[in-house]
Formats: sequence, structure tokens, C-alpha cells
Amino acid sequence: MTRPMRSVLFGLLLVCATLAHGTQAPKYIFLFIGDGMGFNHVEASQIYAEKVGTDTGERSLLFPTFPVMTQVCTRSASHLITCSSAAATALATGEKTTNYVIGMDAKKQHGLKSLARQLKGKGYKIGIITSASIDHATPGGFYASQPDRSMYYEIGVDAANSGFDFFGGAGLLQPRSKRNASAPCLYDLFHQKGYTMYRGMDAYNRSHVKDKVLLFPTDTVSGSLKYALDRSEKDLGLPDLTKACLDNFAETAKKGFFMMVEGGKIDWAAHAHDAATVVTETVDFDQCIRLAYEFYKKHPDETLILVTADHETGGLGLGNSDTNLNIELLKYQQCSQEALTNAMRKMKTAKAVPSWGEMKSFLKKKLGFWEQITITPHEELELLICYEQSFLKKKSKDIVSLYAKDEPLAVAAVALLDKKASIGWTTKSHTGAPVPLYVVGKQAHLYSGRRDNTDMANILRQLFNLKQWEE
Ligand SMILES: [Zn+2]
Repeated sequence: MTRPMRSVLFGLLLVCATLAHGTQAPKYIFLFIGDGMGFNHVEASQIYAEKVGTDTGERSLLFPTFPVMTQVCTRSASHLITCSSAAATALATGEKTTNYVIGMDAKKQHGLKSLARQLKGKGYKIGIITSASIDHATPGGFYASQPDRSMYYEIGVDAANSGFDFFGGAGLLQPRSKRNASAPCLYDLFHQKGYTMYRGMDAYNRSHVKDKVLLFPTDTVSGSLKYALDRSEKDLGLPDLTKACLDNFAETAKKGFFMMVEGGKIDWAAHAHDAATVVTETVDFDQCIRLAYEFYKKHPDETLILVTADHETGGLGLGNSDTNLNIELLKYQQCSQEALTNAMRKMKTAKAVPSWGEMKSFLKKKLGFWEQITITPHEELELLICYEQSFLKKKSKDIVSLYAKDEPLAVAAVALLDKKASIGWTTKSHTGAPVPLYVVGKQAHLYSGRRDNTDMANILRQLFNLKQWEE
């Protein structure tokens, strides 16, 4: 082939590639990550929605109805069972890494560039939304490169340097460096980088600045948003954050946007074996996806919605004795195990420790025991022994799980309700089970078939003609 012919052919290929980019890649991308959300977490929540209904009156979850549904392998580079940071790295950058590493290769030698950072370079608006703190493993995977997920200050520095447009979550875990006393406070650093921080929806809604936003709750110390089950009207929820970011981008994102929304506390509740809270967190996560779906309906030819998980947590099983599955009993649990623990701790430190009769009334009110749910004499005896050990003899120790230290009687009561609801658990940690993937919108069909977690980023990269290492 002559040189002029070669250059003509090259030019044609370039035009094709440009056209392909214009027509193939979605302009609006949503990646929803239900942390710890396995197939059974979704099915339990679906049954709950069918039998009990959601707070907003739906009788089904939305995302399990998406046209493409498959399973995703979650293994990390180092373990068959991943942690959230290795999983987030795989989902965000398309490369697997070692457990506890975030945004670096498996040998911790070089940083990995996430698809979100590449799209930022192409003029896309980037939003990172979570019910955990924004420096936690899952959100961190999209902007940070650090050898250990517990380096919260350094991860926060990476967030401030990312240039991403919207961070919504439960603040920062470590605003000051533990290693270097002269290092700047992260809030000052974010400010220097042009970010404006809002605490609560009222403050955000009053403002006119919609560029480089940090949106956090008014409560500064919690480290995560309240569970949906414990949330009141005034508390910031994951749907509020999702809506705020989406409304912002619908107005400001001219070239397109990429939004990652993490239902972070599905995992926390599963680590604590609190099934009612798992289910209500998943229903809340579905509410966020409904917001994206409304947007998709207005822009069906340009929008892609991916809903998946980073791993399964708890080994949640559906069925524990016979063929009955009594998920609807979970509706009697009025608050999370964490809130039960807090209430019981208050009772324990009160001047007059509650009698067993008073404790029974409390359990009736909070879990429906004895009234809506039959408690056998043997089950009552077990609860009574637990109460005596904890409240009268003060001998029992807190029950520790990854994100909670719970009162033993609260744990015993929730475990009894879970048993009656036919829920089983195999571990307080993550499992190696594959997780579900639900997809709707532009190029959704490309995700069909068994998938690896690295495919989330890499399939999109191909559509954008981006290489893994491209700046
Ligand atoms: Zn976890």
C-alpha cells in the first residue's frame, strides 16, 4: 500500500472511530453499587416489597425488572473472597487488586486510573454518592490510589485533588492527618480546591453555587447516614443525595455525566445479621434507582444504568427449617439493631434498671414479640437469661461485628426475629458468592452473559475508545 493510500485509510478509520464514539458510548452513566447485596438480599427485599409494600406504596422493587440480568464474579487478585476496596478498584478501574488496597495494582507499585477519572478528562461531570463516608472503600475506589483502605486522610486528599464535581455522603472519617501534624485539614484543602461544603438539604437548596459540591449531613460525627429504618424527615438520606446530584447534573452536565451511587449500609446491616435493616436499606437503594430510571425515560437513547454489588455479605439464606419463608415478619421490627442497642444502653444506665416486664413491653413495641409474633416459653427463657446476664448481673460483653458493637439482648432479639422470618446467615464477613447485575439503557446488551467485576469499567472503556492506562 502506498503512503498516501495508508494515510487516507488511517483518516477513514479515525472518522469511523469518532463516529463510533458519538453513537456508541452512553452520555449519561449511572453505576449503582449495593454494598454486600447478594442475590438473596435482593430476593428477600423483593418478597418484602410484594407482601408488605414499601413506604412509598410500591409492591415491587424496580431494578430486578431491568431487561438484562446476570451474575458477576467478585474475586480479588489475592482472595476468592474480596473486601470492598479490592472490589471497588475492580469495578472502577477494570483491574483486580489485593484485598485492602485501593486504586493501586496488586503489588502496590503504581496507581490505577478509574474510568470516572478518564471521563472527567473528557469533560463528563462526575458524582460520587454514598451512605457511608466519602473516603470509605467503595467511593474511594473511584478517585483514590493508596496501599491501604484505612488511610482515610490520604484517601481524602485524593478526593480533594480529583476535581470531581459532586461528593455526597456522611462526611470524612479523618479530616486531620495522623502521620503529619502540619498537613492541612481536609476541609481547608477541599476549600482551596474550589469545593463548597453544605450540611443538610436546606443549606444546599438555599445556595446558588452548584459547582464542586460536598453535601454532608448536619450531624458531623456519625461516619455514615442513618439507616433508612431509623431515619426521620429531617435526616439526610441516600435518595436525597442522589436527587441533589442528579438535579445538579441534569442542569449543568452538557457533555454527559457519570454517577456512582453506593448503598453502603446494606453491607453494614448484613455484617451485624440484621435482616429487617438489610431489606429496608435495599428498598431505599431501589428508591435511588427509581430516580435514575425517571431520568432514563426522558433520555432513553443516551442513558445507561448499571446496578450491581461489590460482594455478598453474611451468606444470607432464604429458609431455615421447612418450606415456609416468613419474610413479612420483618415488618414488625421498628428500628435497626443499632438503634435497639442505643435504646437498651440508655435503659441500662438509667437510675432504675427496667424490670423483665418492662423489657418485654419494649420488645413488644419494637419487634412485635408476643403480640404479632408468637414467642414460645423456651424462646422467652433464652431472652430472659440474656436480659439477666446483661441488665442484672452486668456480665455480658458487647457483640462485635465489622461496623457495630451491639448489646447482647438486642442481638438475641433480632436473631430470634430473623429465625422466625426464615432467614439464615453463614458468616459475619463477606462470601465468595457471585453477585447480581441488572442493566437497562444504551448498550445494556453488552453486559449479558456471566461477567467479571472488571467488565463494568472495561466494557465502557471500549465504547469510549479508552485504554486502561490512558491519561
Ligand atoms: Zn463489608
